[in-house]
Amino acid sequence: MIAVYIAITIILVAFLISQSMNKIQKVSSKSICVICDDVFDESTVIEEDSLSFCKEHYQLYKNSIWFIAESCECSPGNEEASVVLFNKKISNFKQGTLGFLRSSYKESNGQIITTLDYYQKKSPTE
Ligand SMILES: [Zn+2]
Repeated sequence: MIAVYIAITIILVAFLISQSMNKIQKVSSKSICVICDDVFDESTVIEEDSLSFCKEHYQLYKNSIWFIAESCECSPGNEEASVVLFNKKISNFKQGTLGFLRSSYKESNGQIITTLDYYQKKSPTE
């Protein structure tokens, strides 16, 4: 009889562990919108052109014209430039200028160079 209780306890513990593992996985499946940098549940985030958008900004992305306002090379030793660009994007967003960052790759002299492009929304008056 004791053996049965132990077996049930082990199964129960295993069940509880797998439940909490599921919860952890659910919490971690969040995505960040590239425009507003808010965190959204992965099920509500829309992926397009390997970028993720919240519902609101996905519509904006599809219905707007974007241009590269600024670029920087992400070469080793030049990490600061991408941080500066990221901060600029954040502060521009707060002031109503929407944009997103996207990295692109090109080969030069056998080396892969990563470029971070800052896209901005073209205003309708331009
Ligand atoms: Zn958004």
